[in-house]
Amino acid sequence: MPQGKPAGVRCIQLNDDNLCKIFGKPERPDLCDRFAATEDVCGTTNEEALWLISSLEAATQS
Ligand code: SF4
Repeated sequence: MPQGKPAGVRCIQLNDDNLCKIFGKPERPDLCDRFAATEDVCGTTNEEALWLISSLEAATQS
């Protein structure tokens, strides 16, 4: 996203199946390439992942 992805905003690169449309492409941000999914951050389901990331964003909001 041109100005970066604000917290709480869905990335424009996610497709309808919640997969990254630019996975493996050079335009994918370095941060995304370096992120290693772990169960404590991502959970085991889409619903759990959304709850976990929303909780983390709320806890770190300034
Ligand atoms: S991996 Fe990065 S670019 Fe791809 S959908 Fe997720 S946040 Fe967006």
